Amino acid sequence: MIDVHCHIDAKEFDSNRDEIISNAVKVGVTKIVSSALNIDSLEKTFLIMEKYPSLIFCTASLDYTILDLDKVNEFMMEIRRRINKIIGIGEVGLDYFIFIKEEEKKKQETIFKNWISFSNELNMPIVVHSRSAGKYAIKILTEEGAKRVIMHAFDGSVGYAIEGVKKGFYFSIPPSIVRSEQKQKMAKHLPLDKILLESDAPVLGPTKDIINTPSNIVISAAKIAEIKKIPINEVINATTKNAQEIFNFK
Ligand SMILES: [Zn+2]
Repeated sequence: MIDVHCHIDAKEFDSNRDEIISNAVKVGVTKIVSSALNIDSLEKTFLIMEKYPSLIFCTASLDYTILDLDKVNEFMMEIRRRINKIIGIGEVGLDYFIFIKEEEKKKQETIFKNWISFSNELNMPIVVHSRSAGKYAIKILTEEGAKRVIMHAFDGSVGYAIEGVKKGFYFSIPPSIVRSEQKQKMAKHLPLDKILLESDAPVLGPTKDIINTPSNIVISAAKIAEIKKIPINEVINATTKNAQEIFNFK
């Protein structure tokens, strides 16, 4: 299994990161893609990657709650400097739960568009965060011609998700699927060839407010299998193949 999105550098794992990683390997996780959202987080992730080459990988972008285009441009330069260690952009996107004011939404939209063209220019996958903004995120990605898209923990309606599927976007399903009717609907209606597994550790675990770990992607796989009434191995094989495709993993 491949965990396409988490935050392995999170302080929640500082005391037991090696154990968390080895637990993931034990349940069959072969790759973990971690998203770093500032320079410190990026440098910390690189150190973890050095310890676990061919297991831990990273995507990078500036925290989507920072609505400052100059800082975004600066961070893009930092990414270019470290491009050989980065396999994707993200998580970037729209959060209309945090930002309610029109002018803030506009700023976030502009920044999102900049990240999309940056990822297109680099021909890298883009991991997209969308909260209470699924429809708008899909619309902007489509208009801007985003090519390699992972919609992570998509919380919009299935109808909009299907629009994304038609554009070739992938959707990663976190372990919170066991307590989210919306995620269960997604698992039911999205085709298996567009579904990925993600933990989003340390958040979005099977139990609310309990620290989530990458090993829990097996819980996502099991729930998807149950919903689609297919063997879990079929889910694991398909999602792994999908992750290999989007990230160009061998
Ligand atoms: Zn995340």
